[in-house]
Amino acid sequence: MNDGAMASEEGEIPQGRATMVDVDRGQRLRIINHLGQQVVDTWVFMRGRADEYLSMEHCRGKLYKLFFEPGDVLISNLRRPLVEITADTSPGRHDTLCSACDAGSYAEYGQGPNHPNCRANIVAAFSQQGLSLNTVPCPWNLFMDIPVAPDGRLSDRPSAARPGDYVELMALTDVTIACTPCTQAEIPISGIGRPPRSVRWARFDPGGHPDAARGLA
Ligand SMILES: [Zn+2]
Repeated sequence: MNDGAMASEEGEIPQGRATMVDVDRGQRLRIINHLGQQVVDTWVFMRGRADEYLSMEHCRGKLYKLFFEPGDVLISNLRRPLVEITADTSPGRHDTLCSACDAGSYAEYGQGPNHPNCRANIVAAFSQQGLSLNTVPCPWNLFMDIPVAPDGRLSDRPSAARPGDYVELMALTDVTIACTPCTQAEIPISGIGRPPRSVRWARFDPGGHPDAARGLA
Protein backbone atom coordinates (compact mmCIF):
# COMPACT_ATOMS: atom_id res chain seq x y z
CA MET A 1 0.00 0.00 0.00
CA ASN A 2 1.58 3.24 -1.02
CA ASP A 3 -0.35 5.30 1.56
CA GLY A 4 0.58 3.14 4.54
CA ALA A 5 -2.95 1.81 4.96
CA MET A 6 -3.38 -1.53 6.71
CA ALA A 7 -5.59 -3.89 4.75
CA SER A 8 -7.90 -6.27 6.57
CA GLU A 9 -7.00 -8.91 4.04
CA GLU A 10 -5.11 -9.02 0.78
CA GLY A 11 -4.08 -11.42 -1.92
CA GLU A 12 -2.91 -12.04 -5.43
CA ILE A 13 -4.98 -12.04 -8.59
CA PRO A 14 -2.85 -14.46 -10.63
CA GLN A 15 -2.79 -14.28 -14.39
CA GLY A 16 -4.49 -17.12 -16.22
CA ARG A 17 -7.66 -17.26 -14.15
CA ALA A 18 -10.34 -15.12 -12.53
CA THR A 19 -10.27 -14.37 -8.80
CA MET A 20 -13.52 -13.67 -6.95
CA VAL A 21 -13.49 -11.61 -3.76
CA ASP A 22 -16.53 -11.09 -1.52
CA VAL A 23 -16.89 -7.47 -0.40
CA ASP A 24 -19.52 -6.74 2.23
CA ARG A 25 -21.50 -3.51 2.33
CA GLY A 26 -19.21 -0.76 3.63
CA GLN A 27 -15.97 -2.61 2.90
CA ARG A 28 -13.60 -1.31 0.26
CA LEU A 29 -11.58 -3.29 -2.24
CA ARG A 30 -8.45 -2.03 -3.91
CA ILE A 31 -7.35 -3.58 -7.20
CA ILE A 32 -3.63 -2.88 -7.29
CA ASN A 33 -1.56 -2.81 -10.47
CA HIS A 34 1.60 -3.61 -8.54
CA LEU A 35 3.71 -4.28 -11.66
CA GLY A 36 2.12 -1.53 -13.75
CA GLN A 37 0.26 -1.43 -17.09
CA GLN A 38 -1.67 -4.67 -16.63
CA VAL A 39 -5.24 -4.44 -17.90
CA VAL A 40 -7.73 -6.12 -15.53
CA ASP A 41 -11.15 -7.33 -16.69
CA THR A 42 -13.42 -6.63 -13.74
CA TRP A 43 -17.01 -7.61 -12.94
CA VAL A 44 -19.18 -6.90 -9.91
CA PHE A 45 -22.03 -9.28 -9.09
CA MET A 46 -24.77 -9.10 -6.53
CA ARG A 47 -23.58 -11.74 -4.04
CA GLY A 48 -24.58 -15.27 -5.08
CA ARG A 49 -26.19 -14.20 -8.34
CA ALA A 50 -25.12 -14.42 -11.95
CA ASP A 51 -28.08 -12.46 -13.31
CA GLU A 52 -27.53 -9.13 -11.53
CA TYR A 53 -24.22 -7.49 -12.28
CA LEU A 54 -22.41 -4.22 -12.86
CA SER A 55 -23.71 -3.02 -16.21
CA MET A 56 -21.50 -0.81 -18.34
CA GLU A 57 -24.43 0.30 -20.51
CA HIS A 58 -26.59 1.22 -17.53
CA CYS A 59 -23.71 3.15 -15.91
CA ARG A 60 -22.86 5.04 -19.08
CA GLY A 61 -26.50 6.04 -19.49
CA LYS A 62 -26.93 6.98 -15.83
CA LEU A 63 -23.63 8.85 -15.46
CA TYR A 64 -23.72 10.15 -19.03
CA LYS A 65 -20.03 9.57 -19.65
CA LEU A 66 -17.74 6.95 -21.10
CA PHE A 67 -15.14 6.89 -18.32
CA PHE A 68 -15.96 6.58 -14.63
CA GLU A 69 -14.11 8.35 -11.82
CA PRO A 70 -14.02 8.74 -8.02
CA GLY A 71 -17.40 9.72 -6.60
CA ASP A 72 -19.32 7.83 -9.28
CA VAL A 73 -21.85 5.25 -8.09
CA LEU A 74 -21.92 2.25 -10.39
CA ILE A 75 -25.20 0.42 -10.85
CA SER A 76 -26.45 -3.00 -11.85
CA ASN A 77 -28.47 -4.11 -14.85
CA LEU A 78 -31.47 -3.72 -12.52
CA ARG A 79 -30.34 -0.14 -11.71
CA ARG A 80 -29.44 -0.91 -8.11
CA PRO A 81 -26.28 0.74 -6.69
CA LEU A 82 -23.46 -1.79 -6.31
CA VAL A 83 -20.23 0.12 -5.66
CA GLU A 84 -18.89 3.64 -5.38
CA ILE A 85 -15.47 4.51 -6.77
CA THR A 86 -13.65 5.90 -3.73
CA ALA A 87 -10.12 6.27 -5.14
CA ASP A 88 -8.17 6.00 -8.37
CA THR A 89 -4.45 6.73 -8.31
CA SER A 90 -3.98 5.78 -11.97
CA PRO A 91 -4.15 8.25 -14.87
CA GLY A 92 -7.81 7.33 -14.84
CA ARG A 93 -8.78 5.75 -18.12
CA HIS A 94 -10.64 2.49 -17.73
CA ASP A 95 -12.41 1.24 -20.86
CA THR A 96 -16.16 0.63 -20.59
CA LEU A 97 -16.80 -0.36 -24.20
CA CYS A 98 -15.01 -3.59 -25.09
CA SER A 99 -16.17 -7.12 -24.37
CA ALA A 100 -13.92 -9.61 -22.64
CA CYS A 101 -11.45 -11.32 -24.96
CA ASP A 102 -12.57 -14.78 -26.01
CA ALA A 103 -11.59 -17.70 -28.24
CA GLY A 104 -13.06 -15.95 -31.26
CA SER A 105 -11.06 -12.78 -30.71
CA TYR A 106 -7.81 -14.76 -30.57
CA ALA A 107 -8.80 -16.72 -33.70
CA GLU A 108 -8.75 -13.35 -35.49
CA TYR A 109 -5.06 -13.15 -34.56
CA GLY A 110 -4.39 -16.67 -35.82
CA GLN A 111 -4.35 -18.26 -32.37
CA GLY A 112 -5.81 -21.69 -31.71
CA PRO A 113 -9.08 -22.34 -29.88
CA ASN A 114 -7.36 -23.04 -26.56
CA HIS A 115 -5.66 -19.65 -26.18
CA PRO A 116 -6.30 -18.43 -22.61
CA ASN A 117 -8.99 -15.75 -22.52
CA CYS A 118 -10.88 -13.63 -20.04
CA ARG A 119 -14.29 -14.99 -21.00
CA ALA A 120 -13.22 -18.55 -20.26
CA ASN A 121 -11.63 -17.40 -16.99
CA ILE A 122 -14.80 -15.80 -15.59
CA VAL A 123 -16.99 -18.71 -16.74
CA ALA A 124 -14.61 -21.18 -15.05
CA ALA A 125 -14.57 -19.16 -11.83
CA PHE A 126 -18.37 -19.30 -11.64
CA SER A 127 -18.38 -23.00 -12.47
CA GLN A 128 -15.99 -23.70 -9.60
CA GLN A 129 -18.57 -22.14 -7.27
CA GLY A 130 -21.36 -24.30 -8.68
CA LEU A 131 -22.91 -21.38 -10.56
CA SER A 132 -23.54 -20.96 -14.26
CA LEU A 133 -22.71 -17.72 -15.99
CA ASN A 134 -24.81 -18.12 -19.11
CA THR A 135 -24.22 -14.59 -20.38
CA VAL A 136 -20.89 -12.88 -19.72
CA PRO A 137 -21.54 -9.19 -19.04
CA CYS A 138 -19.29 -6.56 -20.55
CA PRO A 139 -16.42 -6.18 -18.09
CA TRP A 140 -15.16 -2.91 -16.71
CA ASN A 141 -11.67 -2.96 -18.22
CA LEU A 142 -9.57 -1.39 -15.50
CA PHE A 143 -6.37 0.35 -16.61
CA MET A 144 -7.25 -0.23 -20.32
CA ASP A 145 -6.78 2.92 -22.39
CA ILE A 146 -9.02 2.96 -25.46
CA PRO A 147 -9.24 6.59 -26.64
CA VAL A 148 -12.44 7.67 -28.36
CA ALA A 149 -11.82 10.10 -31.24
CA PRO A 150 -14.27 12.94 -31.99
CA ASP A 151 -15.53 10.96 -34.99
CA GLY A 152 -16.27 8.01 -32.71
CA ARG A 153 -13.41 5.83 -33.83
CA LEU A 154 -11.51 3.81 -31.24
CA SER A 155 -7.80 3.13 -30.96
CA ASP A 156 -5.62 1.52 -28.31
CA ARG A 157 -2.68 2.68 -26.27
CA PRO A 158 -0.47 0.83 -23.80
CA SER A 159 -1.86 1.26 -20.32
CA ALA A 160 -0.51 4.31 -18.50
CA ALA A 161 -0.96 2.65 -15.07
CA ARG A 162 2.22 2.91 -13.00
CA PRO A 163 3.47 0.21 -10.63
CA GLY A 164 1.37 0.48 -7.46
CA ASP A 165 -1.53 2.38 -9.00
CA TYR A 166 -4.90 1.20 -7.76
CA VAL A 167 -8.63 1.63 -8.10
CA GLU A 168 -10.66 1.42 -4.89
CA LEU A 169 -14.35 0.47 -4.75
CA MET A 170 -16.65 0.69 -1.74
CA ALA A 171 -19.45 -1.87 -1.69
CA LEU A 172 -22.92 -0.34 -1.32
CA THR A 173 -24.47 -3.80 -0.86
CA ASP A 174 -22.97 -7.27 -0.44
CA VAL A 175 -21.20 -8.02 -3.71
CA THR A 176 -18.63 -10.34 -5.25
CA ILE A 177 -15.97 -8.65 -7.34
CA ALA A 178 -14.30 -10.78 -10.00
CA CYS A 179 -11.04 -9.83 -11.70
CA THR A 180 -8.81 -11.46 -14.25
CA PRO A 181 -5.62 -9.97 -15.66
CA CYS A 182 -6.29 -9.73 -19.39
CA THR A 183 -4.48 -12.38 -21.42
CA GLN A 184 -4.31 -10.16 -24.49
CA ALA A 185 -0.74 -9.76 -25.74
CA GLU A 186 -1.52 -9.54 -29.47
CA ILE A 187 -2.05 -5.80 -29.06
CA PRO A 188 0.05 -4.00 -26.42
CA ILE A 189 -2.78 -2.77 -24.16
CA SER A 190 -0.88 -4.11 -21.12
CA GLY A 191 2.47 -2.71 -22.23
CA ILE A 192 4.74 -3.26 -25.21
CA GLY A 193 6.37 -6.69 -25.10
CA ARG A 194 5.02 -7.45 -21.63
CA PRO A 195 3.40 -10.87 -21.02
CA PRO A 196 0.20 -11.15 -18.92
CA ARG A 197 1.01 -10.85 -15.23
CA SER A 198 -0.65 -10.81 -11.85
CA VAL A 199 -2.19 -7.92 -9.97
CA ARG A 200 -3.18 -7.76 -6.30
CA TRP A 201 -6.21 -7.01 -4.14
CA ALA A 202 -6.60 -5.53 -0.67
CA ARG A 203 -9.84 -5.33 1.30
CA PHE A 204 -10.51 -2.85 4.09
CA ASP A 205 -13.13 -2.99 6.82
CA PRO A 206 -14.95 0.32 7.37
CA GLY A 207 -13.03 1.10 10.59
CA GLY A 208 -9.71 -0.07 9.20
CA HIS A 209 -9.63 2.16 6.17
CA PRO A 210 -7.18 5.10 6.24
CA ASP A 211 -10.08 7.51 5.75
CA ALA A 212 -11.47 6.43 9.14
CA ALA A 213 -8.54 8.05 10.94
CA ARG A 214 -9.25 11.28 9.11
CA GLY A 215 -12.92 11.15 10.00
CA LEU A 216 -14.00 10.57 6.42
CA ALA A 217 -15.29 7.02 6.70
ZN1 LIG B 1 -8.84 -10.30 -21.85
